[in-house]
Amino acid sequence: MQIDWNNLGFSFMPVKSHIRFRYKDGAWDTGKLYNDFNISLSVAAVCLHYGQACFEGLKAFRHKDGTLKIFRPWENIKRLNRTLDHIVAPEIPHELFLDGLLRVIKDNIEYVPPYESEGSFYIRPLVIGTSPQIGIAPSREYELIILVMPVGPYYKGGIKPVTAYIMEDYDRAAPGGTGHVKVAGNYAAGLKAKSIAHGKGAEVDLFLDPTSHQYIDEFGTSNFIAITKDGRYVTPESKSILPSITNLSLMKIAEDLGMKVEKRKIHRDELPEFAEVGACGTAVVITPVGKIMSESGLIDYGVSEIGPCLKKLYERMTGIQRGDCEDKHKWLLEVK
Ligand SMILES: *Cc1c(COP(=O)(O)O)cnc(C)c1O
Repeated sequence: MQIDWNNLGFSFMPVKSHIRFRYKDGAWDTGKLYNDFNISLSVAAVCLHYGQACFEGLKAFRHKDGTLKIFRPWENIKRLNRTLDHIVAPEIPHELFLDGLLRVIKDNIEYVPPYESEGSFYIRPLVIGTSPQIGIAPSREYELIILVMPVGPYYKGGIKPVTAYIMEDYDRAAPGGTGHVKVAGNYAAGLKAKSIAHGKGAEVDLFLDPTSHQYIDEFGTSNFIAITKDGRYVTPESKSILPSITNLSLMKIAEDLGMKVEKRKIHRDELPEFAEVGACGTAVVITPVGKIMSESGLIDYGVSEIGPCLKKLYERMTGIQRGDCEDKHKWLLEVK
């Protein structure tokens, strides 16, 4: 095995193994590691037809002292269980989830990028309803699959500001729908918007609240954050946003740094007033947004790199993840 640690992207890589837990007759089994990355599934499996499927994303980091730590896995299992509840799938015990993470990471330890590289170890848990059914009902059987793979920085060439495109005619989710949970179908629903944004020359798509199209919701795959000219951290409040664990962490860090944090409705007319705008999520932590395009015109923040406040937040966050800053909120779980 030969991996160029400095040339990793954000793409699937079949490593040594993944772990699978089965739910059958009302109970989860104790899980098993598999080396074959193909699965055998009924063509009538519920997940294939009706989308009873969901996922999570989290990361582990190699520290300077050689230890390996997972970032806030307790938040991911809580969110996964909220999603499962929403699609009427069985709850996963926290111990089972954490045991699965540790087992699959340890079995693939040689694929964890070293501290010196910019890489990290991406963990992708997913749950699928596997019963063969044509009638619409929750599956009776499920699989929890946990994949791991080394990844580099999401955007190659460092964090350069991206352009966002406001979607006027597309919504990714509805209030009271599935936007606040991490179901697989939300991403299929957002693909069209993403391709339209790309067609306009933007890297990311920005969704408005589906009811009035006047307030900011979130980007296709990451939460919206902004810094006001007087240094407040603002992020939208909405029923159709997926609660990002990165955003949750950044809000805490912003408070630690003495910034005021506001989670509230953000009108689109406020956009030109912000000092800094960013997209946040596990894959990149923070991507600065330099321009926002829409049918009503272009907002240009006139930046060529990440702004000072977002930079401070980014550095503290990645510092905690990589073990260079104190983990004072006890966000890390050691793999041992
Ligand atoms: C997963 C996801 C995010 C980011 O959440 P993190 O926990 O920070 O990775 C943001 N928006 C959507 C729609 C998502 O699915």
